[in-house]
This record gives sequence, structure tokens and C-alpha cells, in this order.
Amino acid sequence: MSHPFDNIKKNFGFGVMRLPLDENNKVNLDEFRKMVDYFIDNGFNYFDTAHVYLNEESEKALKECLVKRYKREDFVLTNKLSSSCFRNEEDILPFFNLQLKCCGTQYFDFYLMHAQSRNNYEQYQKANAYKIAKRLKEEGKIKHIGISFHDSAEFLEKILLDHPEIEVVQLQFNYLDYDSEDVQSKKCYEVCVKYNKPVIVMEPVKGGRLVNLPLKANELLKNLNNGSNASYAIRFAASFDNVFMVLSGMSYMDQLIDNVSFMKDFIPLNDKEIDTLKEVVNIFNEIPTIACTSCKYCLDGCPKHIKIPSLFTTYNNYLLFKEDSAFEAYKHDSNENNKASDCIKCGKCENICPQHLKIRDLLVKVASTFEK
Ligand code: SF4
Ligand code: SF4
Repeated sequence: MSHPFDNIKKNFGFGVMRLPLDENNKVNLDEFRKMVDYFIDNGFNYFDTAHVYLNEESEKALKECLVKRYKREDFVLTNKLSSSCFRNEEDILPFFNLQLKCCGTQYFDFYLMHAQSRNNYEQYQKANAYKIAKRLKEEGKIKHIGISFHDSAEFLEKILLDHPEIEVVQLQFNYLDYDSEDVQSKKCYEVCVKYNKPVIVMEPVKGGRLVNLPLKANELLKNLNNGSNASYAIRFAASFDNVFMVLSGMSYMDQLIDNVSFMKDFIPLNDKEIDTLKEVVNIFNEIPTIACTSCKYCLDGCPKHIKIPSLFTTYNNYLLFKEDSAFEAYKHDSNENNKASDCIKCGKCENICPQHLKIRDLLVKVASTFEK
């Protein structure tokens, strides 16, 4: 789409949530600086963060590698109000000011109510979060108000009716979730079109799951047009008229170089590519993998310190590739006290999981596969 926000240069953005961390939980700033420069040198300028990303290091890394080094009007910065960062109305302004300070900026171009769903919406309502965002917009500290969203199309419609001040909606949108009844990408997208809300896409490669494809699907894409698996997933999302931005949570320079190569002069998918992706979806649907996107939101609250996303990735890889090395990977990610079977079923993880996964039941499956 030709987007409605004139300071944005291209339809592809840098999600700063998956950079590698060292043993002290710090981002490799030298590498990130190079990635920022490469991204900007190639004509892109949109960056997406949240205080909770990368153990609270994402904002600080952006300050060092982007904000201090480029003129403010030359890049677009999106930040979010996450439910874990406030309890009541009084917490919100101090938290917002902390975010400005961490990023070293006077304003955010977009400010999103993070991961809105029926699990947390009441918290935002009670704390008048939307009202406060409107005030911050009047003061020039936010240019545009939006939400990121993880729930049904029906619930999205309710929020948009409650809050006409919402200007953009960030959706989980990819070719695997497009027709899914759980994620409802297509239905949510249609609600955005109905209410004239431009869409930002997150998880176009579903946390990497559309990169590591089942072997049969991998072959199909290999024989298509020499594009990487990620290229088809990202171009799929960017091909929709009402999508003005597709984010990729890039972790490495090689990933960035690949993404830039096909998004610099973006070409929408052609019919043959779309048909091939439909075949890929059919292959995926034959294998009952776990729909975890490795967002890691569930990790902090788990009293047993179970590495839930790592165990789910290992389980999925085992289903997809049937390699014995998955048993080694499972041992590596669990020790005597944090195996899948050590889950005490408190349910804290399920309250926060944006994919609404039945984590407790899934861990039982994982345990029965790897702890025989
Ligand atoms: S239900 Fe299990 S995995 Fe989830 S937070 Fe509780 S102990 Fe951890
Ligand atoms: S289980 Fe849910 S919350 Fe945890 S990493 Fe996966 S998608 Fe995220």
C-alpha cells in the first residue's frame, strides 16, 4: 500500500526483539550497530521495540546504535505499553518517561498498547491507558496511537469501537495463520480494513517456523524462484493492500542481508508463488506441531524455570525432521528440576501466552516424547 504516514521510507521494519545476548544479557552492540547502518544505508528507517524485549536491553541498544547516531527525523521509532509494566493509572506516565529516557528520545512515532487480548484489556481500561496515550499525543510525545493484538476478530472489533483514537493495528499475520481459527489473521485483517486502520504485520515468519520447513515443503520452495524460505513469508504479508509495514525480528547480519535483498525493491507474490504457499500450508497441517512463536513472554513467571519455548522448538523439530539429535537438545535445555514433567500446572504461563497455547497439556506431550 502507499501508506498514510509520510516519514516512513519503506514497508519493511526492524523488530528489535531477537538480537543475540552475551552471558551478561547484553546485546552485541558492535554487531547491532553494523546491522542498523546496513538497514538505513539501504533506505529503510522503521524500528520497533518494547521495554520488555531482550530482558530490557532492546531500548538501550537502540539508544546507542540508532538514536545517538542518526538525526531523529530520519528514523521512525515504535514503542509499547506492556501489561507487565504498570499496575494502575499512576504507574503509566513514570513508565512512559522511563521509556523515553532508555531510548534517548523526546517522542515515539508510534506508541502501541501491547498484545491486547481479553486477558489484559480490562487492565488497560481501568488504568485509563488509552486516555493517557491521547494526552501524550496532544503533547507531541506520541505521533500516532495504536495497538498490537492477539485475540479474535470479534474482540478486535470491540476494541476499535471502544477506541476510535487507534490509528494503526499490529497483527500476527503470516501464510500459515492466515486461515487459522486460533490466530484469525485473515479475519482480523478484514476488521482493520472495515475500520480503515492500516496494519503493521508481526511474526511474518512465525518466530522462524516458516524458515525451518518440513522437508517436503522445503523442496517445493527450493524449486520456485531461488528465494529464501523467509522471502516468501515476508513478501506474502507485504502483498496485502492494507499492510503498510512488515516487521522482522532479525537476529543476525546474514538474515538482515537476505531480507533487504528482496524488500529493497519489493515485488508482491505472483499467482504461482501463492499457490505454492498453499501447498506448504497443507503439508504443515499434516504435522501437529506446537504453534509457539518463541516470544519468551512465558519464561519470567514460571516458578520451575522451564525453558518452555526451547522445549517446544525441540519437540517441533523432532516432529518435522525425526532426528535423534532432538533428544540431546532436550537434555541440553532441561536439567533435573526443569524438565517438561516438572511443571506444577500453576497456569501462569498460559495467562500470558499471546498464542493462547494450552502449555500445561503440551508439556505433558513433550515429556512423553523425550522422557521415556
Ligand atoms: S504451568 Fe508449568 S510451565 Fe507454566 S508457569 Fe506453571 S510450572 Fe511453569
Ligand atoms: S509458549 Fe506462548 S508465551 Fe511462551 S514462548 Fe511460546 S508463544 Fe510465547
